Amino acid sequence: MKHSLVWFTNNIRVKDNTVLHNACEEAGKIIAVYCFDPSHFEQTEYGFKKTGVFRTRFLMESIKDLSENLKTLNIPLFIYSGKPEENIPRLCKRYTITDIYVQKEWTRDEVSVQNKVADALEGKCYLHQVFDQFLFHPDAIPYESFKEIPEVFTTFRKQCEKHASIHKPVSVPKSQPISNWENTNTNLPSIDELGLKNIETDSRTAFPFSGGETAAWQRVQDYFWESRHLSKYKHTRNGLIGKDYSSKLSAWLANGNISARSVYHEVKKYEAEIEKNQDTYWLVFELIWRDYFKYVSLKHGAKLFKIGGILDKTYSWKRDEETISNWIEGNTKYDFVNANMKELAATGFMSNRGRQNVASYFAKEMQQDWRVGASYFESLLIDYDVHSNWGNWMYNAGVGNDPRDRKFNIESQSNRYDPDNKYTRLWLKNT
Ligand SMILES: Cc1cc2nc3c(=O)[nH]c(=O)nc-3n(C[C@H](O)[C@H](O)[C@H](O)COP(=O)(O)OP(=O)(O)OC[C@H]3O[C@@H](n4cnc5c(N)ncnc54)[C@H](O)[C@@H]3O)c2cc1C
Repeated sequence: MKHSLVWFTNNIRVKDNTVLHNACEEAGKIIAVYCFDPSHFEQTEYGFKKTGVFRTRFLMESIKDLSENLKTLNIPLFIYSGKPEENIPRLCKRYTITDIYVQKEWTRDEVSVQNKVADALEGKCYLHQVFDQFLFHPDAIPYESFKEIPEVFTTFRKQCEKHASIHKPVSVPKSQPISNWENTNTNLPSIDELGLKNIETDSRTAFPFSGGETAAWQRVQDYFWESRHLSKYKHTRNGLIGKDYSSKLSAWLANGNISARSVYHEVKKYEAEIEKNQDTYWLVFELIWRDYFKYVSLKHGAKLFKIGGILDKTYSWKRDEETISNWIEGNTKYDFVNANMKELAATGFMSNRGRQNVASYFAKEMQQDWRVGASYFESLLIDYDVHSNWGNWMYNAGVGNDPRDRKFNIESQSNRYDPDNKYTRLWLKNT
């Protein structure tokens, strides 16, 4: 009889989860595991903790919710604070696991961990890996190989919209027969145990939400169906204050608390039942950006993290400590940049408009090594996603996929998007 292990990484959900679905379809008895990998909490070469407290808290909430949801399916979730390559083989031995199911990854660190686990298993278990983080599945896109992914987003979007279909979500697995697994009790580590200091999120936050699949679907319910904010998304998405100017789905998407496919099909349902307009389409348009950066990273691999980016461009980048700390602390000559940086430090969130401006200021105006900025974002952002973060930073630094290589005029951006200084006052008063 098969004994299977579902290894959760950043696909922390039970709905529309192909990895879990396949395991339940194919396997006899199932357990699940999540590892808080110490390498995710180390300091990076740029001097910041890879995962800061806001993202960690969101992740912990996500795992707690997953554990409860899996319980209803009679699947125990083992939670470890430790290396996957040590804990998973031990678990496999204890429960005579034959098959492991995990989401397929391609970025260096993730691949390295999966390889280490495979090595430690010494061929004793079969590792099933599937891509499950896309809107357009790699099998559905109109390209023979990732090398053909266009360098310009609009080309990619138009070709995919024309030729690629979006898979229907897979069903939630049925409850498994009760198995008398022994010693299934494990606990979430505390923030302290992960080497972080807990800090309260500032009450002015635009992201007053919790992690987890339940909260993700609650947000869809509120943003789509109850308030119908989706009907005006394109008109409000450049806002700066409050929870409703944009969907705020990014953190749940980054942790895989909800799939991009599920969001897409929910938009389609909304369009059929309530209203279809440019705004409802635009949320899908943005989800295609999210996919695009994943494909850019599949195509270009480690170039995503190189100073010359995917264009191999040589600029005279600097690393001036004072400039970097002034940027981080919100102490630059622009109030608009400062307000955004203070919001990020106090909440782990910043609007898309803010992110573009502070990144452009850092990389284009101050010519600082853009990877330092990207690494600071990685540490702070509650919705950090390796492809979206490094891809957007490359784009804004002029070493990525921006065909126009724009530099933001911060003054005019601030006049346009914060004409009454409401946003800058919100974050610069009392701070
Ligand atoms: C320098 C920089 C760094 C960024 N880092 C990240 C990151 O680490 N993680 C992340 O999810 N997004 C990142 N973004 C993209 C974008 O800012 C956020 O996705 C968005 O602000 C999240 O808020 P929302 O969910 O309300 O977005 P909405 O406006 O409601 O958009 C809906 C969804 O579309 C996707 N999306 C929207 N804009 C983009 C974009 N430019 N690139 C990729 N996907 C997009 C997100 O999944 C988002 O949740 C970054 C942008 C910049 C300029």
